[in-house]
Amino acid sequence: MGELGNTARSESSPYFAVSEDTSLDQAALHLPLATCHFPAMLGCNGPPNTPARAVAEGGEAMERPDWDTYFMDIAHQVARRGNCCRRQVAALIVKDRRIISTGYNGTPRGTTNCCDGGCARCNGDAPTGSDLGECICSHAEENAIVQAAYHGIAVRHASLYCTLSPCLMCTKMIINAGIVEVVYEDEYSFSTPARDLFEEAGVTCRRFERK
Ligand SMILES: [Zn+2]
Ligand SMILES: [Zn+2]
Repeated sequence: MGELGNTARSESSPYFAVSEDTSLDQAALHLPLATCHFPAMLGCNGPPNTPARAVAEGGEAMERPDWDTYFMDIAHQVARRGNCCRRQVAALIVKDRRIISTGYNGTPRGTTNCCDGGCARCNGDAPTGSDLGECICSHAEENAIVQAAYHGIAVRHASLYCTLSPCLMCTKMIINAGIVEVVYEDEYSFSTPARDLFEEAGVTCRRFERK
């Protein structure tokens, strides 16, 4: 059976953000290492693209990922749960450097997974970008926003990290959810109208460049 594209099940992913009986503050305690116990050593106040450096116990220099790399690497891990047979995509919603929601793409909760034949359009021979009105797979960004709503978590003023640039439909959702920044890695081939809409709406949209 399909699942909503998210990682709310703690047993299925180490990256889950919240569960139904967990408050947001408590949930933050379960998040992967976004909490910094050694601010000076870890360079937590540095800009998002500055790799943090620290000295390991043995004295050798230790390279640590910058925040963009950190979140994008986690997004790629989340994408592995995607059940769409066309491609696997993920999105994270991040606020104050904490992950507050995650989503991956696939068929709706309680329905047959796309990769098990659940979506006739994806399992057919429609070319990429065509017959999208027939597709029943939810997108990762959509699921990250819906997952936050499911748990009553505000996403206003948050950032969204996604492994693929958002489609026009997700762009509209991101804008209206009050998300103020989008960081994407791969470029979706039909992204120009989406980019223009982000610009007009005042949402920062930037491409993550892997070093
Ligand atoms: Zn699909
Ligand atoms: Zn989309």
